[in-house]
Amino acid sequence: MSKKIFLSNSTLDFSLKNINTDEKNILDFENSLERYLGENNFAVALNSGTSAIHLALILLGVTNGDEVICQSFTFVASANPILYLGASPIFIDSEKETWNMSPYFLEKAILDRISKGKKPKVIIFVHLYGMPAKIDEILAISKKYNIPLIEDAAEALGSEYKGQKCGTFGDFGIISFNNNKIITTFGGGILVCKNKEYKEKATFLSKQARDVAPHYQHSEIGYNYRISNLSAFIGIDQMQYLVANKNLRRNINSFYKDFFNNIDGIYLFEEYKTDIVSNHWLSCLVLNKEIKQLSVESIRLQLLKDNIESRPLWKPLHLQPLYKDAFFYGEGVSENLFKNGLCLPSGSNLTLVDLGRITASIKKLL
Ligand SMILES: *Cc1c(COP(=O)(O)O)cnc(C)c1O
Repeated sequence: MSKKIFLSNSTLDFSLKNINTDEKNILDFENSLERYLGENNFAVALNSGTSAIHLALILLGVTNGDEVICQSFTFVASANPILYLGASPIFIDSEKETWNMSPYFLEKAILDRISKGKKPKVIIFVHLYGMPAKIDEILAISKKYNIPLIEDAAEALGSEYKGQKCGTFGDFGIISFNNNKIITTFGGGILVCKNKEYKEKATFLSKQARDVAPHYQHSEIGYNYRISNLSAFIGIDQMQYLVANKNLRRNINSFYKDFFNNIDGIYLFEEYKTDIVSNHWLSCLVLNKEIKQLSVESIRLQLLKDNIESRPLWKPLHLQPLYKDAFFYGEGVSENLFKNGLCLPSGSNLTLVDLGRITASIKKLL
């Protein structure tokens, strides 16, 4: 993956007259997201996606000793805030079509936890690599058992499900603007709330929970989670490039798809239905049958030899040393993806020449 930071053709004027010390940049950034996400979405700009997940869990009342259901196949930040609160994650495997939370194992886990006397407090599901999860099925289960949803759309800004934007389906949505995401504020996140009260409460908690008083008065634990004005200023500009970056990444994905279509045994991850749109944040491949002497590691090493960086897919969290004691419900789908999958270079700044060089490198192995 490219180390270059993609700021498109921005010519931002970083002179201090443009960076406010009150919250103007931040409020403008929140407004630009609310305009993008559509009505009844209330955005709180924070310093990271991880802080957004942490605040969502707090707003949903998660506390010491609670159980929280979380997709196993994801980046560790999806689950760590569960531990911040002294709660325990219950990990769920993926299904094969979207690589996201399996609705089948989600329901199985809920029933099993309830039978053990502990109803899970919250469900965290993810749109990994920008691919929308099985949202209808997950929403139905959330409703049936009355367990609220946190939608981790950190990688999925720009993705859509049946015409609705990812990040707007859960009781809370979270988006990340970390350096590596589809657009960046060099560290930043958004918590998407469904009403103004939650937005106000999240904003209050993100600014050290200062009570209304002329002096500094505090009745609750607060956090230093507000985004900086500088990041918000960059974010407003970056929002203009979201659609362009998404199209660039989707084009990169089509290029790879054309290439791998002719190669038996390698599947390029794509939408399984036409009413979902992935931003294809990263393009990923998976080996789906034995090919002589070919492993994902051999592809990775060949690319590396040609000075091209690629990476294994996320290691499922139930296999991480940190989470070795957590419960897991599944049947090996995420393990298999981890064993046989690879993220290809996917930065929005890749040129056709770069893509040609990448596929030529892989061709040497075939
Ligand atoms: C990046 C990411 C996060 C965390 O976002 P930060 O802004 O880096 O804290 C959470 N979940 C997933 C799936 C991510 O990829």
